Amino acid sequence: MDLTYRVTPAEPQAHLFRVELVIARPSADEVTLSMPAWIPGSYMVRDFARNVLDIAAEDAGGPLPLEKRDKQTWALTLRGGKATLRYRVYAWDLSVRGAHLDTRHAYFNGAAVFLRVAGQEPHPCTVELLPPPLDTGADWQVATSLRPLDAAPLGFGRYQADGYEDLIDHPVEMGRFSLIPFSVLGVSHRMAISGRHRCDEARLRRDLTRICTEQAALFGELPLDRYLFLVTAVGDGYGGLEHSYSTSLICSRDDLSQPPAPSQNPSVPIADKPSEGYRRFLGLCSHEYFHLWNVKRIRPQALMDGDLSGEVHTRLLWAFEGITSYYDDLTLVRSGCIDEAGYLELLAQGITRVLRTPGRLVQTLAESSFDAWTKLYKADENAANAIISYYAKGALVALALDLTIRHRTQGAKSLDDVMRALWEHHGRTGIGVPEHGVEALAVEVTGLNLDPFFSQALDSTEDIDLAPLLVPMGIGMRLRPSRGPKDLGGLANGKPPESPETSAGPVLGVRLQPQASEAVIATVLTGSAALAAGLAAGDVVIAVDDIRATRDNLDGLIARVQPGTEVRVHAFRRDELLTFAVCPLPPPADTCELYLLEHVPPETAARRAAWLASAAPDTGR
Ligand SMILES: [Zn+2]
Repeated sequence: MDLTYRVTPAEPQAHLFRVELVIARPSADEVTLSMPAWIPGSYMVRDFARNVLDIAAEDAGGPLPLEKRDKQTWALTLRGGKATLRYRVYAWDLSVRGAHLDTRHAYFNGAAVFLRVAGQEPHPCTVELLPPPLDTGADWQVATSLRPLDAAPLGFGRYQADGYEDLIDHPVEMGRFSLIPFSVLGVSHRMAISGRHRCDEARLRRDLTRICTEQAALFGELPLDRYLFLVTAVGDGYGGLEHSYSTSLICSRDDLSQPPAPSQNPSVPIADKPSEGYRRFLGLCSHEYFHLWNVKRIRPQALMDGDLSGEVHTRLLWAFEGITSYYDDLTLVRSGCIDEAGYLELLAQGITRVLRTPGRLVQTLAESSFDAWTKLYKADENAANAIISYYAKGALVALALDLTIRHRTQGAKSLDDVMRALWEHHGRTGIGVPEHGVEALAVEVTGLNLDPFFSQALDSTEDIDLAPLLVPMGIGMRLRPSRGPKDLGGLANGKPPESPETSAGPVLGVRLQPQASEAVIATVLTGSAALAAGLAAGDVVIAVDDIRATRDNLDGLIARVQPGTEVRVHAFRRDELLTFAVCPLPPPADTCELYLLEHVPPETAARRAAWLASAAPDTGR
């Protein structure tokens, strides 16, 4: 039963792809067709079938009966000869998880456009990518990691997939994009950037090469023959989705490395310290690239049967997303894209993020993973109080695990060894990781009893005490109250801090909606003064003690209140004006600062160097 999928960005103005599925030699009287409910890597039911329009089937004898069985499944009755299904797919989701088509470009994930033919999943199939109407995109090109069968480089034409899983693992961009080729260990890599942008291609090429080389050195091999970073630059955006031979990224155009100013002499070396935005973009590239090992090839057993019809639960996302989140920034410092100070700043921000989430005391990391579908991916106004991200806390657990292994084995082993063992046992072999497989392998590789560590880190809501793990690395840590909405935590000004500040004023304990100019409450935090007084999410605070409040001055109005004094807060709930008597509370010490300890013995400096050092052979930097 040969399958050929044909995709045309046929009606860009209406955001409609035309898709044809040709079943050349049917081997049954009836086949079952379905659209995925979710896309691998993003644990939320999206019901891609809802965008499928006017589906019909025919063969040489005319229309064929096609019966819809449920929200995403059809039964097609065949007559023995070649059959063709035709449908259109509405594509207006500019994210890395769906499909998007307009007169400027086309982008799709296979999960959003390709019907699955039950029983045919393991068999190779052909994909024909056809150009848009001439008046739209005579100069459009194609960027995809699909294997070309009969298509010129960057061209429309015929491509091949090994089976359905492979078919939906290669996102496709059609349009005009800039292309940055580079090579990692002899393997061809490309970054294609679409959307209006300017970037310093030389710097991007240099930094991406460093990051990819560093990760390949960690795992000891690069298990592919091509890799593509597909980037969509927009005004304001951030996100990525991992694939086996590519990744889709969306970023703010200002986060790309900016070209040197025209007045600058091009022979002067590039200023080395990346901007915060560019560092964030490199972290995103690093994160998705690490996934080519950790989740795309080292895979959780629970996700291996390819069931995309509904939710699949696993407690392992702490390892696949958390460990990946730990290594994304670690790779930046190991590869020399950022310096030690920059790395400590990122670590401190990660610690701060977790400390500012009361939900960490409610949900365990394993629960966060298991319930990703209905909690993390459906975060609401109470999310901060109810859940903890397996990315954010998972990264801290990975850090604690790495440092614990390094200290207890006197530097003989590290999390790097656990990752290599995972690669050896599960990546190379294709054997799925069982639900407790990461813990078991960590114990096996290190010879340590890590059960108490894992039961605290994964199955309890107890905070992990990082300070004692950082001191042997020559790093001090302290907590202090926030200095304002822009304070994310970070590096303590390069020198050991003096006594903790006591000057910070009291707080309401709310998060405000960032876009509104009014003080609209997004979340009322557990244990806060606002909660005790009865303020709620959605309330618009208009005055504090009869002085007008806005998003920008609310914190300041409250901080000036004498601790223990009551203030009158006016707020609209829907269209009703309410008055609240609020007693602001002292600010929590939820902001982390890290700093390098002075006068540490040489072995401490050596331990830190071993942790943050490059594993890659000298790449000439
Ligand atoms: Zn990820």
